[in-house]
Amino acid sequence: MKQQKPRNGNNSCLGVHGIESLIRSLIKRHKTPFLIIRRAALKKQLERFRRCLPEVTPYYAIKANPLPGVIKTFIKLGTSFDVASANEMKRVLSFGSSPSRIIFANTIKTPEDITCAKRRRVRLLTFDNEPELYKLAKHYPGAHVLVRIKVANTGSVVELSLKFGAEPDQAFFLLRKAKALGLVPMGVSFHVGSQSKNVENYLQALELSANIFNEAKGAGLPLKIMDIGGGFPIEHFDNEIGINFERMAAQIRQRMKAIFDRNVKFIAEPGRFLVGPAGILVTQVIGRTFRNNKNYYYLNDGIYGDFSGMIFDHCRYEFKTLRRGQKFLSALAGPTCDSFDTLSMNEEIPELYVGDVVYVKNIGAYSCASAVPNFNGFPPAKIITI
Ligand SMILES: *Cc1c(COP(=O)(O)O)cnc(C)c1O
Repeated sequence: MKQQKPRNGNNSCLGVHGIESLIRSLIKRHKTPFLIIRRAALKKQLERFRRCLPEVTPYYAIKANPLPGVIKTFIKLGTSFDVASANEMKRVLSFGSSPSRIIFANTIKTPEDITCAKRRRVRLLTFDNEPELYKLAKHYPGAHVLVRIKVANTGSVVELSLKFGAEPDQAFFLLRKAKALGLVPMGVSFHVGSQSKNVENYLQALELSANIFNEAKGAGLPLKIMDIGGGFPIEHFDNEIGINFERMAAQIRQRMKAIFDRNVKFIAEPGRFLVGPAGILVTQVIGRTFRNNKNYYYLNDGIYGDFSGMIFDHCRYEFKTLRRGQKFLSALAGPTCDSFDTLSMNEEIPELYVGDVVYVKNIGAYSCASAVPNFNGFPPAKIITI
């Protein structure tokens, strides 16, 4: 048997026994549902990112999980941050981040939020259209800007190019326009879509971006920052195939080195990759019945809660139990008075009883972040940071 240290969470790679003993010990002291966030796993993912992409500075996209414990941990570890609104910006600053370590990466910003960035000295912003440049020039002259381009999101679970990104052949025009308006054109950004399993998206986007860098350099407007966005995938299921971050990163790194000048600074905006593996959601069965020829189990967290990612993030999870033995086709549902609050119609799980635990790993991103607190009076899952 491997030694496990579930109590302090120092062991960044918990096996099934480690996770189960951690759950058994926490459930004695805390009411379910609860979401365990493991700092050791946050650190491990950040180290993985830095090891595989050493030239790329990660700006953690806090929308994936804005919990204080997560932000504070990443500040301690020296991470930078990607924020999408003045409130996210203030949140990161309030925990002690330097404004120079923040990128305001929502391409559409309200005048008030732009003014807030100016006051708080958050200088790096993204944009993807001409009207936004006029807005920026008016409310934040001298701001440093990256043009976000539209890139392929093929095979990504969450499509982001439907709503964002300038046509790549317009990018240079927009950067020149930015300069004419008194802004400082710094470079290019893209997002290949979230949970992007297809490395080609990154490679093609890098090629498109390098062309813009070359065009700008040729015109005497050299660019300095290449922002490769987020989208880095994680495994939501044990032994999931088709996801190999190490190999993906190696290909991205090789291409970056081959097509960009040495003095270009690379940054990225990982969200899911840094925080997803750190979360374990623990729920309990609060009711059971037999319907449609299968066992139905009602859990105390659902679609309106920490499983909100099943809707907004198009995510699927692996439901696990502490029971062993013969498995039966079962359905899992959340606690609210809404049939839509159904988590799965076909799980193969052992027979469960009221009070039994159902838990899900790798649920740290886009879970509590997008939950609706107290719908139907059900409180949000308690957060336990270890
Ligand atoms: C959502 C988002 C991210 C984070 O994406 P992940 O897929 O979680 O890595 C980064 N940048 C921008 C602009 C985003 O909208």
